[in-house]
Amino acid sequence: MEQPIAVTRQSFDDWMVPVYAPADFILVRGEGSQVWDQQGKSYIDFAGGIAVNALGHAHPVVTAALVEQAGKLWHLGNGYTNEPVLRLAKQLIDATFADKVFFCNSGAEANEAALKLARKRALDQGNSSKNQIVAFNNAFHGRTLFTVSAGGQPKYSKDFAPLPGGITHTPFNDLAAAADVINDNTCAVIVEPIQGEGGVLPADPAFLQGLRELCDRHDAVLIFDEVQTGMGRTGDLYAYMQYGVVPDVLTTAKALGCGFPIGAMLTTDELAKTLGVGTHGTTYGGNPLATAVAGAVFSIINTPEVLDGVKQRHQWFLDGLNKINQQYPIFSEIRGGGLLIGCQLTKDYAGKAKQITQLANEEGVIALIAGPDVVRFTPSLIIPEQDVKEGLARFARAVARICS
Ligand SMILES: *Cc1c(COP(=O)(O)O)cnc(C)c1O
Repeated sequence: MEQPIAVTRQSFDDWMVPVYAPADFILVRGEGSQVWDQQGKSYIDFAGGIAVNALGHAHPVVTAALVEQAGKLWHLGNGYTNEPVLRLAKQLIDATFADKVFFCNSGAEANEAALKLARKRALDQGNSSKNQIVAFNNAFHGRTLFTVSAGGQPKYSKDFAPLPGGITHTPFNDLAAAADVINDNTCAVIVEPIQGEGGVLPADPAFLQGLRELCDRHDAVLIFDEVQTGMGRTGDLYAYMQYGVVPDVLTTAKALGCGFPIGAMLTTDELAKTLGVGTHGTTYGGNPLATAVAGAVFSIINTPEVLDGVKQRHQWFLDGLNKINQQYPIFSEIRGGGLLIGCQLTKDYAGKAKQITQLANEEGVIALIAGPDVVRFTPSLIIPEQDVKEGLARFARAVARICS
């Protein structure tokens, strides 16, 4: 048999379009919340592929679902439906406010569908000036042109003008400012219950409640982007359940496939009618392989054991991080919900989040940043206590080094 091509981290710089700057090692294997690189060095995974691998790596039940479906049917195209997609739709509907589901392959695509739905709904009502979308500063909704435009971080959109119009940004958690821009010409408001990429910033309950009321008053579609907060990340299946504020449309991806690409837009019967036959679609959306995996993932995550376990693990992280911060005061705030935790660096350490995660890698733990001033943790929802302890001990050594 032919030898596989030899690859090193240098190969990335040689062969890949340089949109990423990955770490200087290559991971080759994972099990639970541990991963190993080409040299056999072990790391505790506190990143989970950016809030994706919610059941860790190589979960036996999820792997079995993938393998079983791989031997049956991978893909049909949307001229033919399939069993796994229908079962997953029913699981999502039974567990949420939604009556209908649209499947796609990523978070950006789920948001793209949500925004298109809102625009078309207003147009179908005969109101061609009701096309304005309200979004929030610092938000992240994906990387398509529409979703970078809805996102509130100009660094992701400014190089790609002309951008889709009709999108207004206003400060997050500022209800008065939102009330100033939401009116009868607003077709949608899109918001993350906890801004993830923007720095792990939770919405105030009154803010989301207020947006709900404004959307009701002006007949606008309230879209919750739960791509990062969904699928148990905050300790409830979806964060809206914690807030007690029900959106009209919810987008979910990341942990839905635990690493197998899949996204979904959930909505009501009434709104779903907007996207009639031929109005929207995607080749791979709802394919049997992705939906069989997500069905297995869903069955495991949507249980009291896993969801309550997230709340318990939140406390383990908080206790450990507070202890580190007592010894080396580098965090001004530790915030977030469940296993979406952000540590805001003090003024003295501003801009050093990346450097801290690089030192963490050297010490054998994988952490994330959320902007230059926030260290973010989004581990597996079922990470064992021993791995939390060991990972935090390694992280503490990295913090000690940045402080010395
Ligand atoms: C990651 C993320 C997205 C984009 O998801 P992709 O799968 O990368 O397209 C959208 N919204 C939020 C809140 C996210 O965290």
